Amino acid sequence: MNRGKISVNQKNSVKLLEISCLKTSFFTHLGEVKAVDDVSICLDESETLGIVGESGSGKSVTMLSVMRLLSDNGRIVSGAIYFRGRDLTKFSEGEMERLRGKQIGMIFQDPMTSLNPVFTIGNQLTEMIVRHLGLGKKDARDRAVEMLSTVMIPSPVQRMKQFPHELSGGMRQRVMTAMALCCHPDILIADEPTTALDVTIQAQIIDLLKDLKSRTGTSVILITHDLGVVAGFCDKVCVMYAGRIVESGSSADIFYTPRHPYTKGLLKSVPNPKKMMKERLVPIKGVPPDLLKPPVGCAFAPRCDHAMKICILRRPPLFEVGDGHGAGCFLNHPDLPASA
Ligand code: SF4
Repeated sequence: MNRGKISVNQKNSVKLLEISCLKTSFFTHLGEVKAVDDVSICLDESETLGIVGESGSGKSVTMLSVMRLLSDNGRIVSGAIYFRGRDLTKFSEGEMERLRGKQIGMIFQDPMTSLNPVFTIGNQLTEMIVRHLGLGKKDARDRAVEMLSTVMIPSPVQRMKQFPHELSGGMRQRVMTAMALCCHPDILIADEPTTALDVTIQAQIIDLLKDLKSRTGTSVILITHDLGVVAGFCDKVCVMYAGRIVESGSSADIFYTPRHPYTKGLLKSVPNPKKMMKERLVPIKGVPPDLLKPPVGCAFAPRCDHAMKICILRRPPLFEVGDGHGAGCFLNHPDLPASA
């Protein structure tokens, strides 16, 4: 049994990022919202990790904690975030500013909130390159044009002169990707990078991320509510629910042998093109709990068809159910009879 902390690191390779027992809360006039509650995640060099869950499950807040980009009422309450062995929670704001963009890049769901509407694309890219890489203006502009070509933006020299509102949603997302990658970060965090886009553009952005990853070797963390998006892209997956990791393992573990009822529910709600005509999609009934008053026991119990008495009374730890595969559900308790 693995209590709270699970390392999905299955190889004997360098841990690039290690989040250990992270707790992050928002302090509102109604009380403390425990948005991230005892989360541990490992990411190795050149790995791709998918973090999946419904809105409000804590996936974005976990990564905003890594970047230290929480809103004013948000705070890391406890835990550690090691990047190449150094705890980011101990970094000063100046150190974090130097790290953001240069060593850890982030693409946000809505590029309009990250791109400055009053500066051209060229200005924004060039300024970032000058600041982080210390290049002169001309070299920085050349590098910016090169990055726009890398993310397959047509006529990059002309695009440099345009403002964000002059580009389509897909193009803006590509600009954000160029921005996040221009300093060759060790980790690229993509937070729902395709949510605001139509299906064709979604596929293009995911293909672009796959291609960039294979060419640059950058480790990628992909945050999404859609398990279908991580299929075929991520080496491993963490499923989050109500601020906690409820299941983690390799992509194969999660897709072929899920051991948590919530993961199984997510999988049933993903359209399968091969079965489209034969199988109905099954939504997960109910809603996630109020994190102002999180349940004492399993947070998924009110929505779970298998809930038992113990589920209401006690919070399930993450049971080790395979090599690097963990599931936070009492159905995996080693003492439970196989028929339960
Ligand atoms: Fe369902 Fe109990 Fe497992 Fe929670 S611990 S998912 S309520 S069976």
